[in-house]
Amino acid sequence: MGQGKRNSGLSLEKEQKRGLRLCTKQVVVLGAGRSGVAAAKLARAAGAGVRLLEKSKTAPDGKSRAELEAAGIELEQGAHTERQFQDADLLVLSPGIPRRKIKDLLPAAGRLPVYSELEVASWFVDASLIAVTGSNGKTTTVSLIAAILERAGQKIFLGGNIGTPLSDYVLQGRRAERVILEVSSFQLEHTWTFHPGVAVFLNFHPNHLDYHESLDAYRRAKMKIFANQHEQDTAILPADQEQDFGQNREIRAGKMYFQGSARFSCPSLAGAHNQANIEAAFLACSCFGIEPEQAAEAVRAYPGLPHRMQPVREVKGVRYINDSKATTIEAQEAAVQSFQEPILLLAGGRFKGGRPERLRELLAGRVKVAGLFGESREIFEAAWGASVPTFWEPTLKQAFRKIVSRTSPGDIVLLSPGTSSFDLFENYEHRGQAFIDLVNDLLNANAEKGSS
Ligand code: ADP
Repeated sequence: MGQGKRNSGLSLEKEQKRGLRLCTKQVVVLGAGRSGVAAAKLARAAGAGVRLLEKSKTAPDGKSRAELEAAGIELEQGAHTERQFQDADLLVLSPGIPRRKIKDLLPAAGRLPVYSELEVASWFVDASLIAVTGSNGKTTTVSLIAAILERAGQKIFLGGNIGTPLSDYVLQGRRAERVILEVSSFQLEHTWTFHPGVAVFLNFHPNHLDYHESLDAYRRAKMKIFANQHEQDTAILPADQEQDFGQNREIRAGKMYFQGSARFSCPSLAGAHNQANIEAAFLACSCFGIEPEQAAEAVRAYPGLPHRMQPVREVKGVRYINDSKATTIEAQEAAVQSFQEPILLLAGGRFKGGRPERLRELLAGRVKVAGLFGESREIFEAAWGASVPTFWEPTLKQAFRKIVSRTSPGDIVLLSPGTSSFDLFENYEHRGQAFIDLVNDLLNANAEKGSS
């Protein structure tokens, strides 16, 4: 490898306690996204020899490249080969890369331990960990937990699957009292010692079945959030699955159940699903001495997040809501259930699975028209065509224009696609911003008409 082993002085106490001496290892990190780069830097700082592999010739960005070079990390780009893994003691696999895809390149079965960045970074964290998983609502819930604990004066770090990877937190040498982590099934699948004192399991719906081999494998990955908890830890679980979870011996931690209620009010979070998220967040915070009155204040002031049931504007008495992050049918269903007003729904995109036909009755009662755009036309038309007026246009812009022409004051135009955005957009943020721009253009056009 030609890399000298170096120790930056990072505290290895916790990692050594577990007998996992990164400093004598050859680590291969697969995937140079944000968490892969962070994991590579962390392993190197701990003294390991590190090789970072990336299929794409364009990633990572220039700044990361310079940092990797300065740290003495080898970056190998292009198709992966067997040779790259032969001298590895440990493989860090980035989220979204299924192990089965590279299985044939790895040394004989079981010889190379595979970890996620979350697992490796957690070896270096002594603060109490609060981890949140689930198919929908993770980002909202971790943000609420952060808002409540911060308002109570606690020093927090919020990251993981959103924002800053845990490895970067470790490298920055910050010392939070509470480390709040959004954790995905991808990250959990390759954890072995990851141990949150408080683990929240929000809900479970079919998702990511292009990655996980089966629904059961997806659930097993998510359940690993509880695998290393002890009796004095806490598992926060949905009350509607109390029967299942109540009998589950895999969960050794003390169980608390949440369900939506009206005791907390948050103007920026519409819908029963968000009331449930708020309750889950409060229960997590109650483990650290937070009282309901304290939480209520923080929840009231919580500003909401972009692209999740985000009110954009009101134009001519019609409210426009951007829920571009609704990439699953369950999130779409929750969005439609959240409004009493007549809804004009914008939906469609790259289908990720789920059963859109389960919304039939709901749509018939609440949706005036469903404007489809992009891919999956046939799936949604077949599922909804008989219960609600439906049309299709190739782009969001065309569907938006058509839907606007059918609005009346008091209506809601809701972008809640129920699909991923990759057919027409770079990501869900791009799709949400396109919708916001269309609403702003509409407002400007109306203002011009009014003044001429
Ligand atoms: P995640 O981080 O799990 O993707 P987000 O908080 O980013 O979750 O929300 C993603 C989408 O899921 C949004 O459309 C949001 O309104 C919806 N959502 C949030 N919580 C729930 C829930 N408990 N059940 C169904 N949908 C939800």
